[in-house]
Amino acid sequence: MNLELVCKDYGYDCEFVAEGKDSEIVMREFGKHVEKEHGLEYSKESLKQMFQNKYNKK
Ligand SMILES: [Zn+2]
Repeated sequence: MNLELVCKDYGYDCEFVAEGKDSEIVMREFGKHVEKEHGLEYSKESLKQMFQNKYNKK
């Protein structure tokens, strides 16, 4: 299963999509992108939360 976090889904006017098979990698890529492009830093916990909300994982 391919996992992804879409920047647009979080209110940015941006086409960036972080994707991959490993949630750790997707979270890291997304976090890096948001920090670099949007000047916002998400903690590992909030990235995890976003991911869990999206994929409803326990
Ligand atoms: Zn973005």
